[in-house]
Amino acid sequence: MIIVMKPDSQEKDVAEISKTLSSLGLGVHISKGTERTIIGVIGDKRVLSDVPLELMPGVEKLVPIMESYKLASRTFKPEPSIVDVNGVKIGGKELVIMAGPCAVENYQQIMDAAFAVKKAGAQFLRGGAFKPRTSPYSFQGLEEEGLKLLKEAKDATGLQVITEVTSEKAVEIAYKYVDMFQIGARNAQNFHLLREIGRSGKPVLYKRGSATTIEEWLNAAEYIMSEGNYNVVLCERGIRTFETATRNTLDISAVPVVKSTSHLPIIVDPSHAAGKTQFVLPLSKAAIAAGADGLIIEVHPNPRCALSDASQQLTPESFDELCADISKIADIVGREFKHE
Ligand code: PEP
Ligand code: MN
Repeated sequence: MIIVMKPDSQEKDVAEISKTLSSLGLGVHISKGTERTIIGVIGDKRVLSDVPLELMPGVEKLVPIMESYKLASRTFKPEPSIVDVNGVKIGGKELVIMAGPCAVENYQQIMDAAFAVKKAGAQFLRGGAFKPRTSPYSFQGLEEEGLKLLKEAKDATGLQVITEVTSEKAVEIAYKYVDMFQIGARNAQNFHLLREIGRSGKPVLYKRGSATTIEEWLNAAEYIMSEGNYNVVLCERGIRTFETATRNTLDISAVPVVKSTSHLPIIVDPSHAAGKTQFVLPLSKAAIAAGADGLIIEVHPNPRCALSDASQQLTPESFDELCADISKIADIVGREFKHE
């Protein structure tokens, strides 16, 4: 439920309501818009059955939240959220591009990738250290050694770094090395891990599962948020359909649908959707045109030798061209992106 305050309500009215709700063990989330303040109420509303909230000073109306997810819904927080990662704002006017190899492989590879993506305008370096591979015999990632290399690349370039965490142990190890966690498609409904990410408080890029509906995805985001971590950025990365021409089917509709029902920022991963380099550019353009707040793209200094996802990783040159095109689309849709 949300409590919509009257435009002329006072700070003390909001404080009084917050005090009443807290004393009943309910969580309170205050959202100050330009016109009015909205108080989100979190917890079991049955304790409110004898409390005439609608009669309290400053209250205009009480509105139930119809969606099964609450904290992630637009009813709860009407204005779009901006997730700030050390000054890089995801969900604002400027588009954010995260780029780098599927997996961190060695010092030279990650350094070359980092300098190349930074030069093209990316604000984040991505690189997997814990790789959830389809086969147990494939390269599984360098784990902590990979995280150290990622941190070295961060220190050398000033880029923010993001890596996927696949277990509670990985969260613990990766915490000190990276600026943002990534939850991959395969763990999209691993609720223990999502709660752990929520408790960690670190910003998270939370990918949609390959067979999760948008509603299931937002409900799962709620697991992270309900632990107090509101720094959640969603990522559409393609879903499993009957189509086999691409690795997954990029659900472009997810961008406007999420924007209409949630306040969370959303970016798109065209690499894991396409599975093939030649489709990464058109899907990236479509994503930005549809309103995505950014992209996460796989870039490898020498894709043919990549230890994972070789067929979808862009060369630094193609990535540079992509960034130039994205900067033009950004202009058209009223966003900003600086292609260096
Ligand atoms: C990845 O980003 O390297 C990855 C494994 O992506 P996804 O979880 O979308 O498959
Ligand atoms: Mn990959």
